[in-house]
Amino acid sequence: MTFSTRDLGIDLGTANTLVYARGRGIVLDEPSVVAVDSRTGTVLAVGHEAREAVGRTPGTIVAIRPLRGGVVSDYEAAEGMLRQFIAKARRSRTRAPRVVVSTPSGVTGVERRAVLEATSRAGARSVHLIEEPMAAAIGAGLPVYEPCGSMVVDVGGGSTEVAVISLGGLVVARHSRVAGDALDAAIAAYVEKQHTITVGERTAEQIKTTLGTDARMVIRGRDKVTGMPKTVQLDSEAIREAVEPPVQAIVDVVCSAFDACPAELYGDIMERGIVLTGGGALLHGLDERLSRETGMPVTVADEPTTCVAVGTGRCLEDFARLETAFAAPATAAVA
Ligand code: ADP
Ligand code: MG
Repeated sequence: MTFSTRDLGIDLGTANTLVYARGRGIVLDEPSVVAVDSRTGTVLAVGHEAREAVGRTPGTIVAIRPLRGGVVSDYEAAEGMLRQFIAKARRSRTRAPRVVVSTPSGVTGVERRAVLEATSRAGARSVHLIEEPMAAAIGAGLPVYEPCGSMVVDVGGGSTEVAVISLGGLVVARHSRVAGDALDAAIAAYVEKQHTITVGERTAEQIKTTLGTDARMVIRGRDKVTGMPKTVQLDSEAIREAVEPPVQAIVDVVCSAFDACPAELYGDIMERGIVLTGGGALLHGLDERLSRETGMPVTVADEPTTCVAVGTGRCLEDFARLETAFAAPATAAVA
């Protein structure tokens, strides 16, 4: 089977969804957010437009993130979001696209089914699943088909996926729901406890990304104790401490993959190193920390946030060869 230019690869992430169109590359990169009218259930906006509404929506409009922890948590919203993204990305209006979608390696059959069905109903002609770490490794340019161990660590918003890959298959796969969102939650909890002001998800995320590079940052909010406006200055050292427990959890899941790694492949990884992908790979100092704790060389992939999408896209380019990389159930044909 060969794919045509109307076919799409989708990285359906907890934080961001990216669409790769065969021959065109990445054509869409938007937050995985849906704005829904809570009275009617109608999808009002998706992606960037919906994200602008998070935390600022009037009573009847709710902003929903259809995925949590790497899996679909709101099926209807996921379908509505995919429908609009697929419509935006597709070129041909006459023939529906075939779609390759990545799913986290540790998900259950039911969770996989939800992705398959939501994508089918959103307008795909057929849907093929690929394990997310495999897509990440392919997108990062690792030699996944060679008889040699490669390790990829994908830190997204809702999940961290760790895999050792050799000969086109996942030899070891570990995952954890501790990833970017957990870091944001730890930051929000710290600010609330230490400075008695409440910050939303988006501000917490901003603190995380800003304080990776800047030493200080000023945030504003309402003091929960006095009820008055308050401005506080945060410093990066305190935030680093606040995120330490989730960072340690990420380190632990990487270490647990090594515990299960065959000796030969372990030797390969010592030589070739660990490759970090996903938005969380950009967390300041994560690469060094992992290197220190595992004793392995660690590199951040070029453009870590697009690796999974590019990997699903490569499946479109080279489908037959990649068939072995597909997760079971491999395909769902839709009438
Ligand atoms: P997903 O695959 O779950 O959609 P992504 O791979 O798109 O996730 O990564 C999103 C996560 O990466 C978010 O938690 C975001 O806050 C985080 N992230 C993005 N840029 C940075 C950065 N510079 N520093 C730390 N975290 C970052
Ligand atoms: Mg991802």
